[in-house]
Amino acid sequence: MSAPGDDGVNSEIRQNKATKEWVIFAPARGKRPHDFQQRHDEDAPVPPHDAHCPFCPGNEAKLPTVIKEWRDETGDQWQARVVPNKFPALTPDVSIQRYAQGINMAMPGYGQHEVIVESPRHDQDLATMTPAAVRTLIESYYQRYLDLYQNPCNVLIQIFRNHGSSAGASLRHPHSQVIATGMVPRAIRWREYEAQRYFDELGRCVYCDTLAFELSDQQRVVLENASFAAFIPYAAECPFETWIVPKRHQSDFSEITEAERADLSLALHTLLAKLHTKLNDPDYNYTINTGARTDHEPQSHWYLRIRPRLVTRAGFEIGSGMRINPSLPEADAAFLNDDQAR
Ligand SMILES: [Zn+2]
Ligand SMILES: [Zn+2]
Repeated sequence: MSAPGDDGVNSEIRQNKATKEWVIFAPARGKRPHDFQQRHDEDAPVPPHDAHCPFCPGNEAKLPTVIKEWRDETGDQWQARVVPNKFPALTPDVSIQRYAQGINMAMPGYGQHEVIVESPRHDQDLATMTPAAVRTLIESYYQRYLDLYQNPCNVLIQIFRNHGSSAGASLRHPHSQVIATGMVPRAIRWREYEAQRYFDELGRCVYCDTLAFELSDQQRVVLENASFAAFIPYAAECPFETWIVPKRHQSDFSEITEAERADLSLALHTLLAKLHTKLNDPDYNYTINTGARTDHEPQSHWYLRIRPRLVTRAGFEIGSGMRINPSLPEADAAFLNDDQAR
């Protein structure tokens, strides 16, 4: 049987038979535009508007369409916009049926891949935007999450942000992304499985327990407000990995209330500003880690995970799957909490 990936354009998702890990093959991504100017001269001043940027106002002809938008405080101008990814890793107009290829399993590259443009300004960044703009962004995450959840084919909705070229950002204009998939990746199943085992053994949510421990221990906490606490996890994979965890048990991102969305935007903004100042605007990725189509599960608990790109995974780490973190979480937290340290 010929596979959808054969024409070299459509995506295909293949499963590693030995580990059950899924891999997306997205040949169309090879044609992505890259912001060479930014990469070659990182210190060049960034203009507020770029005539060649598809996300800048006035360049809408470069976009397939605008799916949804949110107005700014004045109502005169859009603040955030959802647009389809022009070079999607996955596309929605294919089947989710799996098929065999010899001993292997594959499926068409089903999914939805969208970009959330965070500002009409080309030169803005989340760490330095207004609190109102960050609040709008969190609202766009929430609403888009609910929208994509309506489609029963979407079993996982991953919201993420890449900042800087080493984190995979190919366009300078500030943006986040959302990818919905038709299967559950191995790493997420594994995370869910361990949380389930913990619950079955102890009758408690491992994330609620972790949060309670971190708040009592205080050594790794970097921020707390009414609805969220942020800390460097005890076994952080990389320097300054930070989790922002809702204090109220909520299994899925769709359960976040309006007041909690406001608190999340404050926490995220404060932390990113802190990283920007103290680590000189590091490249980073953050993801909203939420369950795969959960419904008020007692054992799963969503959180936002920030991973600065300060170290590179090398041979041992790639071979063993085990990370080497050169920095202790307690020291990272102390550094972020020390207002004098730079
Ligand atoms: Zn732009
Ligand atoms: Zn919990």
